[in-house]
Amino acid sequence: MPTGPEAARAGLCARCVWLRRVPSSRDQIYYLCERSASDPRFRRYPILPVARCSGFEAVDPGAGTLGG
Ligand code: SF4
Repeated sequence: MPTGPEAARAGLCARCVWLRRVPSSRDQIYYLCERSASDPRFRRYPILPVARCSGFEAVDPGAGTLGG
């Protein structure tokens, strides 16, 4: 799970179970939403930072849900 500045850049995706971080050859990290594979409402590569998302599911259930 991303932390610090990287988490701030990703927004909600940073704490979502559907996020997959994809390292590139240029030391960049791309954020892939795995929900996009089965649901066309979601972008494969979300525009970051994501502030609200109906598909959000917290990695840590104790962290609550901020989606909507
Ligand atoms: S479901 Fe929403 S919050 Fe979760 S990874 Fe995809 S775009 Fe980000």
